[in-house]
Amino acid sequence: MTRYQHKTIKISIKKCYKMNDDELMWWWTDDQKALFKEFDAFVEENREEAQIYAKKFELPLPLLDKLAAKGYFGAAIPKEYGGLGLGTTGCCIVSEQMSRLGYAGGIFVSSMIGGCRQLLKYGSEEQKQKWLPQIAEGKVKGAVCITEPYAGSDAANVQTTAVKDGNDWILNGKKRFISGGDIAGRFFVYAKTSDTPEDRKNYSHLSAFLVERGTPGFSLERVNQVIGLGMSSNVYLSFNDVRIPDENRVGALGKGWNIMMAGLNFERLINNTAMLGNVQDIIKLLFYYTRRRIQFNKTTSQIPRIQDLIAEILSMYRMGKVFNYNCAKQLDDGIEPTVDVSIAKWIPAEFLRDLTSRAIQVMGGDGVMSYYPVGGMLMGSKINEIAAGSTETQKMIIYRFSSRKFNEPFRMRWIDEINSAVVSKKDSRFKGLEINEENVLKVIAHDYKVNPALYMTPDDVREDIGGSRTDLLNIFSKLEEQKLIAVHRDRKGKISLVKASYEGLKKAFPDEYYRWFPSWTPDSVKF
Ligand SMILES: Cc1cc2nc3c(=O)[nH]c(=O)nc-3n(C[C@H](O)[C@H](O)[C@H](O)COP(=O)(O)OP(=O)(O)OC[C@H]3O[C@@H](n4cnc5c(N)ncnc54)[C@H](O)[C@@H]3O)c2cc1C
Repeated sequence: MTRYQHKTIKISIKKCYKMNDDELMWWWTDDQKALFKEFDAFVEENREEAQIYAKKFELPLPLLDKLAAKGYFGAAIPKEYGGLGLGTTGCCIVSEQMSRLGYAGGIFVSSMIGGCRQLLKYGSEEQKQKWLPQIAEGKVKGAVCITEPYAGSDAANVQTTAVKDGNDWILNGKKRFISGGDIAGRFFVYAKTSDTPEDRKNYSHLSAFLVERGTPGFSLERVNQVIGLGMSSNVYLSFNDVRIPDENRVGALGKGWNIMMAGLNFERLINNTAMLGNVQDIIKLLFYYTRRRIQFNKTTSQIPRIQDLIAEILSMYRMGKVFNYNCAKQLDDGIEPTVDVSIAKWIPAEFLRDLTSRAIQVMGGDGVMSYYPVGGMLMGSKINEIAAGSTETQKMIIYRFSSRKFNEPFRMRWIDEINSAVVSKKDSRFKGLEINEENVLKVIAHDYKVNPALYMTPDDVREDIGGSRTDLLNIFSKLEEQKLIAVHRDRKGKISLVKASYEGLKKAFPDEYYRWFPSWTPDSVKF
């Protein structure tokens, strides 16, 4: 190794040891890097006060006033409406840092995501002018109301109704699990405005409304105590003939589902980064703690298993972080990376749960004492697997969206020279043959040799031999009548998959055609 090379390695290792966030998220702008530092300083200055409120189970109102005075409630709001215009990345940075302030951070984050994005995208100019500056000033906190006692993951099953009465809407129903609902002044509510099966099928049965605290008939029904979140409020709300003007309807009638979906990617990222902020502090605590705890005459930080656990925690944290901020950047660039946001939600959520459990393990008994912040985090991180769409829901989204992208033919073709199948885009050996029962059966039976356990789609058969879809479907029906093929039908009764029956295999080719052995198979075992 030359001296020069040696120096380069030394420099890069030195750089790596800093492990700064702005190095990990190398695409952050200078403003975003500065923002991270600014909020970091704000948190360091106010953390003690925040913890005192939390330990005393007191609402941190003076702390919220401090946040408001700095204009931080306007993080998600563009400058022309009195906000800071920080974009998704900026809001994630703010949320990550603010979550370190415990309950005050929780209120701040739920207020920041409380329908702002939806209002910006779907609200009228008058609605934006009326609401956004108030939110930015921190005067009116926000809450999002989707979930109901009988509608959770199945969010389209909202039962709360909104019925038109002159120029007003009358809302009736209930919402539950609403974060920050006890202190919010503005509620972004999704209600059913149509009951027709057609609208339900097209997801055009919901509309979005803004309801103000103090509107007659609108009340707080109960306050939930969420394990691990201290005083973070989570409430049930009741709507009893709540009359609101049509000006409070956001977006077009029947577009509630689209509006709800439009804000979810943003909300999920904000929730995720909120969790990450706490992990940062836990990691610091673990380094601090293990260097001061002696067992078997050495600090626990010297025990390889403890080092392993901390290394695992740090890896999960940094992977979750980089993926989340990557999604945030995409949102800032005008892309809605729904699949990636769902991935960013469920994997780090599981990481975080495992990670906090490991952190407790590192600290032993102290880890489960409420004195240290780690045990409570375990429940807090578990909540991330449920709130803003459960892990199962994220996996459904990931599967459904990506099945469209990956639904491409993956065809295997039999190559006689090597006596095996390979993935190939070449035409099949049957291409161009006359489309008749005999040849179609051959195509299907040949596929038994290539994929012995799989059915073929009508399109697979068509790709192999050609012909029109209608002709092929007719031939399938005839072959089915003769019991030469078996078919699978979709819900509408159309043939969706076909395979050769044993009788069909026999009729298409001699037995010898289907036999296959790897070259090393001794003749003595063949029969
Ligand atoms: C702390 C907290 C804060 C929240 N804040 C808000 C808020 O501010 N506003 C708001 O509107 N809502 C809020 N929620 C509600 C949250 O979005 C819901 O809890 C979540 O969508 C899950 O609904 P559920 O709790 O009713 O569970 P359920 O829908 O009853 O689900 C129970 C379990 O079944 C699984 N499941 C359901 N359907 C399927 C399926 N088809 N396939 C596989 N598994 C399935 C779920 O994943 C879950 O594991 C909050 C929740 C919590 C815990």
